[in-house]
Amino acid sequence: MTEATIIDGNRFSAGLRDRIASEVHALRETRHITPGLAVVLVGEDPASQVYVRTKHKRTVEVGMESFVHTLPVDTPEDELLTLIAGLNKDPAVHGILVQLPLPRQIDAQKVIEAIDPAKDVDGFHPVNVGRLASGGEALIPCTPFGSLLLLRDHLGDLSGLDAVVVGRSNIVGKPMAQLLIRESCTVTVAHSRTRDLPDVVRRADIVIAAVGKPGMIRGDWLKPGCTVIDVGINRVANPDGTSRLVGDVAFDEAVKVAGAITPVPGGVGPMTIACLLRNTLVACARQHRIALDKSL
Ligand code: NDP
Repeated sequence: MTEATIIDGNRFSAGLRDRIASEVHALRETRHITPGLAVVLVGEDPASQVYVRTKHKRTVEVGMESFVHTLPVDTPEDELLTLIAGLNKDPAVHGILVQLPLPRQIDAQKVIEAIDPAKDVDGFHPVNVGRLASGGEALIPCTPFGSLLLLRDHLGDLSGLDAVVVGRSNIVGKPMAQLLIRESCTVTVAHSRTRDLPDVVRRADIVIAAVGKPGMIRGDWLKPGCTVIDVGINRVANPDGTSRLVGDVAFDEAVKVAGAITPVPGGVGPMTIACLLRNTLVACARQHRIALDKSL
């Protein structure tokens, strides 16, 4: 039996970051513009701290300016909104990302809506959500966009394929479904109320797993030869007391049935940050009315 092709997100994202770095270099040399990304972290959530550190490192690596604002966990909502208003006006800042989740006293939706849509590199502002749905010039959420780039790279034209997205969050599931509709796939969005999920998944040429439940999607749920994008990142305990990251798909089973699959880690994860850098570059170019290489 042949095993599935492993879709290498580390390799693809490294190539994308190289292309971004070249564009950033060209912008600096020819226009004296340096794209800038501001990341705001409220509190000391360990996972969020790791994400913010990695974002900073990658931003600097591609030659962009990185502005990290770290605020205490008890920061009042007004103070965060004032910081965002300042970043909206700052010409050195082309992209703004507020790390989620936020502490309880802060209304995340209010914060998202306070970000200038032109600088909303997470693509969560209702203006960008609406543009993605209606076909306008949106900033697109990073994880679904990264997943789409991997699909396009592996499959080429997606037109006419049956895609099942398991999960309907605003961050992953819904924008993923919009992107696949835009690619002319026939899209089904499944969630916790879906009846007979294995049967629904079995119809799919493309399976996107974005659930947050380790190994929930089993090998015998898959159509032989399908392409599986595993967005899930779940930390599970090992018998020796250490821990490891696993996806939402039972990888060892799925690899025997699927035609191609993303691993966890090393699949969608690294694409998310690469797409954040891409969005910052795109936002900067749009703010300065500069055309970018179409491959970005
Ligand atoms: P959410 O918790 O916001 O959404 C989970 C979705 O899964 C919901 O729509 C929920 O349905 C659905 N769901 C839950 N249980 C079941 C079930 N038994 N059967 C079918 N559907 C179910 O998660 P996110 O979308 O934010 O994240 C999903 C996963 O992706 C997580 O593991 C997260 O860590 C990972 N992730 C990875 C990123 C990356 O960079 N690779 C970035 C973002 C997330 P309902 O709506 O009915 O409750």
